[in-house]
Amino acid sequence: MSESDVVVIGSANADLILEIDHRPRGGETILGSDLVVMPGGKGANQAVAAGRLGAGVAFIGCVGPDAYGQMLRTSLAEAGVDTGRLHVADLPSANAIILVTPDGENSIIVSPGANRRMTPELLDGCRATWAGAAIVVLQLEIPLDTVAHVATHAHRAGSRVLVNAAPAAMLDDEVLALCDPLVVNESEADFLVPGGTTGMSPAEMTDALLALGPLSVVVTLGAGGAVHAERGGDVVRTPAHRVQAVDTTGAGDAFVGALAAELAAGADLAGAVTLANEVAAVAVGRRGAQASYPWRAELGR
Ligand code: ADP
Repeated sequence: MSESDVVVIGSANADLILEIDHRPRGGETILGSDLVVMPGGKGANQAVAAGRLGAGVAFIGCVGPDAYGQMLRTSLAEAGVDTGRLHVADLPSANAIILVTPDGENSIIVSPGANRRMTPELLDGCRATWAGAAIVVLQLEIPLDTVAHVATHAHRAGSRVLVNAAPAAMLDDEVLALCDPLVVNESEADFLVPGGTTGMSPAEMTDALLALGPLSVVVTLGAGGAVHAERGGDVVRTPAHRVQAVDTTGAGDAFVGALAAELAAGADLAGAVTLANEVAAVAVGRRGAQASYPWRAELGR
């Protein structure tokens, strides 16, 4: 039986951020800004977001035996996350090389490194940490057979399984049927729904996603907030908080981490979406991913 309410299983990446005035062509060398290094990765981001809200969170991931791995561990630990299952692998820590142009557009190259060591066998070796947790949170920056393995066995052990299907990838019907909720943004919804979601209203989108089999679904709509529905229930639209958007990096991860923390605390899906929307709005109003996530005390709750 797990001792944590929320167990996040996923990627931990060091984000290497460079501002450039244009993207280099083949054979071209350009100068960029000073390099900024920040803790990131969808899994680690979501664990930090949930930890800062005071949930009992454990993170299961892999980093390399390097300074980036230390940075990632420190950021998780400072958020109160249990890092006892943050494995040090025989590969370098994962990196996301993020190139930002003056129009605010990002080009991102992910080097998966140690995240590739997130195998079903590694997860079996720490099954007591996750099987039976109130909620197990998965994203798709680790091998998909591991996601399927954990979802199946966590569900069997009585855990609620939250899958954030990001980055977009196809999931087996058996995995989709375990999601409660499946969380996606609009482009991931478009990827998962056969024929795409172009021209669909938010309610049509949630219907189309529920038809894939999950028990519940949440679609984040950027500045449009979020829409959610449970199987057989009403479609509920939650508008975004008004905020001056400074940096939307990791907003979706703030949303997922907060959603998991609130579900583990016993909230219903509508209540959890309300908090997640509030937390994600704070995150878009500040620079960075993990650095932008609010602590519980900042929310006045
Ligand atoms: P992702 O970061 O995965 O692409 P979204 O862009 O849908 O996800 O954003 C996730 C959540 O962040 C939204 O559901 C919303 O709560 C919040 N959010 C994003 N952009 C804004 C914004 N401009 N104003 C307020 N909230 C925002």
